[in-house]
Amino acid sequence: METRDTADTARPDAFRVGDHPALDFLNTLAAPRGTPIEWLASGQDLLDWLVGAQLLSSAEATRLASTWPATDIDAAAREAARFREWLRDLVARLAGAGPSSLRPADVHRVNELLSRESGYAALVSGEGSPDWRVARRHRWERPDQLLVLVAAPVADLLAASDWGLVRQCENPQCTIWFYDRTKAHRRRWCSQAACGNRAKVAAFRARQRGDD
Ligand SMILES: [Zn+2]
Repeated sequence: METRDTADTARPDAFRVGDHPALDFLNTLAAPRGTPIEWLASGQDLLDWLVGAQLLSSAEATRLASTWPATDIDAAAREAARFREWLRDLVARLAGAGPSSLRPADVHRVNELLSRESGYAALVSGEGSPDWRVARRHRWERPDQLLVLVAAPVADLLAASDWGLVRQCENPQCTIWFYDRTKAHRRRWCSQAACGNRAKVAAFRARQRGDD
């Protein structure tokens, strides 16, 4: 399948319907209208997505974009997209077979990304709260450390998930994954507007055809 060229077509905002940052990351390649859209097509895309996901501040993203060569950040985005496609297979496997199907090689891959972190703790205040607290700060040395920001929520997903609640939208044309946090655990669609209503209309038409 060809992905839509992002430069000359209006691309919607990235989807934030996964109810888990790791699944939102997985959904940075999605086909909500049948045509796959890539939200990690460049280094700038990666920085924008991380800011939108509140995994990186916009001031930090601007500083990194002006510090590192664009080609190096592009390479980090390509690595993030490869990691994402590897994660897609892994999530499908775990959603089907449960956490016991996690292999040592899977763990190693995630841990390798996490180990790139060079960080430190800092006493900070502000950001919506007047209280002082201890926060983790990143010491950015290389663009490939950006992968830490996506590997961390992926590690959370792998460590603490009820895999019966990690599901794909029931629209067969839709590829979006989500964590079902509804009370009744009956969420079926990425969104009612995008896929739920369309399924309802299709079922209604099918019934009408049956009546003819
Ligand atoms: Zn959907």
